[in-house]
Amino acid sequence: MPYRAPVSEIRFVLDHVVGFGRVAATGTFAEATPETVEAILTEAGKMAEEVLAPLNRQGDLHPARLENGVVRTSPGFAEGFAAIARGGWLGMSADPEHGGMGLPTTLTMAVNEMIGSACLALQLNPLMTQGQIEALEAHASDELKALYLPKLISGEWTGTMNLTEPQAGSDVGALRTRAEPNGDGTYAITGQKIYISWGDNDFTENVCHLVLARLPEAAEGTKGISLFMVPKKLPDETGKAGVANSLKVVSLEHKLGLHGSPTAVMQYDGATGWLVGEPHKGMAAMFTMMNNARLGVGVQGLSIAEAAMQHAIGYALDRKQGRTAHEGGTILHHADVRRMVLSMKAHTFAARALAMDTAVSLDMAKATGEAGWKARAALLTPIAKAYGTDTGIEIASQGIQVHGGMGFVEETGAAQYARDVRVTAIYEGTNGIQAMDLVGRKMMDGGAAAFALMDEMAGTGHERLETALAELRALTEWLLEQDMQDRFAGAVPYLAAFARVLGASYHLRAAVADPARKPMADVAVSMLLPEATAEMAKARAGAAALYAVSDDVVAA
Ligand SMILES: Cc1cc2nc3c(=O)[nH]c(=O)nc-3n(C[C@H](O)[C@H](O)[C@H](O)COP(=O)(O)OP(=O)(O)OC[C@H]3O[C@@H](n4cnc5c(N)ncnc54)[C@H](O)[C@@H]3O)c2cc1C
Repeated sequence: MPYRAPVSEIRFVLDHVVGFGRVAATGTFAEATPETVEAILTEAGKMAEEVLAPLNRQGDLHPARLENGVVRTSPGFAEGFAAIARGGWLGMSADPEHGGMGLPTTLTMAVNEMIGSACLALQLNPLMTQGQIEALEAHASDELKALYLPKLISGEWTGTMNLTEPQAGSDVGALRTRAEPNGDGTYAITGQKIYISWGDNDFTENVCHLVLARLPEAAEGTKGISLFMVPKKLPDETGKAGVANSLKVVSLEHKLGLHGSPTAVMQYDGATGWLVGEPHKGMAAMFTMMNNARLGVGVQGLSIAEAAMQHAIGYALDRKQGRTAHEGGTILHHADVRRMVLSMKAHTFAARALAMDTAVSLDMAKATGEAGWKARAALLTPIAKAYGTDTGIEIASQGIQVHGGMGFVEETGAAQYARDVRVTAIYEGTNGIQAMDLVGRKMMDGGAAAFALMDEMAGTGHERLETALAELRALTEWLLEQDMQDRFAGAVPYLAAFARVLGASYHLRAAVADPARKPMADVAVSMLLPEATAEMAKARAGAAALYAVSDDVVAA
């Protein structure tokens, strides 16, 4: 079944669940009128359906490959990227001063969702580029901005982010790549980076690498890290891509999925780089990019949830097996298949509302500068990332189940969704790290932002939601009293519970706005809240029980 962009569903969530109207009512985003939103979503949806979705299987069957040091991309990806660039979708939320459209992040996320559903491997490229645009806007010098932003926004050049090294994965502070001053304002960058998404391509003139490295005498750990722009080709005096820089793609990884996205091992041998932001403040600058990318990766999970769900429903409407409650029914009329499909719908809706709610908070923070919006966005970001991607993984797996044996056979495409989405729980900070961020850094306010969010959800008069909220409140209070080790031991289930309570409240809002949605909301609440209760029980388990099992027993 071909992918169909869920334009009206996205509009419903924006208008009736996450209050996008508040964003459009700000001076900053006054251009995001209902007509503009409709036009943008319709146009992007059409491109996703017609141009990008046909590329998805091509990328899987014909992975990007390295030929004599040059990356050759999957068939059709060059045209697909050109369509994304032509549509202006890369710089939708970028500053108009450099060619962007200045539109809300919420709309970028909605468009990214559809592009990702159509072809996730290709969509990772614009996602990296968008993150780089945002980091440069926030931290680069005017000179660097003028040189790089117009080309990144137009899609003439693309961007990457280079954090990971063999010994520095989750522990970014362990990185060793060096940056030596050249004496002319530039730096010589030397080191190896691994797993660099879209580290190269054969369809843009230049690839701009944002690289984390250490200046001489830099402090140990994350405090001694600086950020550098290191382009594949050095810009000449007219700003065009000129001679090759001293860097290369050493190899591409062979992966479980996402085959169309070249994942590169990069070698920098005294490559020329320019400092972005302050010396030793690279982590802060990179965090701008990572926060955008974290929500963006959560949306990738949503993309696959939606695509895999559509695919499974299409199959279930067609496949006949055995007698069903309906005369002449298909497998969709078996109670268990119906349960699976409704669970897919319940979680996909929740993941979309959560992602869009997070994006609305980011936009409101930008438009108003208010601390409350900033704290709300910061709290929601790890939840949106982890829940969105876990949902994508779970739904892609259920999608295989709905297909039966045909799900395990590659031709249907159900398996590709499961393989492609798996990495989203790993990159941009594993979901474990996201959960630790939620119960650690994001609770340094004594839980103020979390309790404020619970207050927002309260007062619906819905008994089950109110009970779940009381449980979540009590759990949060308990968590705040524990030491970090105990909090971390329960972090993942805590995040899972929080996401499900939020999800139930979004469903209830939808049912109030549109009574026709009540039966679906009832089913969703009856699925999400018991799951939340179970996760909350796990969140209280504490670290002691885990460490009571000795290493010997673990390894036995
Ligand atoms: C396809 C792909 C694309 C990628 N793209 C990029 C990219 O473009 N740029 C880039 O810089 N990187 C990229 N990465 C790297 C990615 O961000 C890392 O793989 C990720 O951060 C995890 O690091 P690691 O693989 O070293 O795992 P590890 O850090 O070794 O983690 C292994 C396990 O230990 C857990 N763990 C680690 N530390 C802790 C801790 N302190 N507390 C609790 N648990 C912990 C993790 O959650 C995980 O479950 C990519 C990776 C892949 C696979």
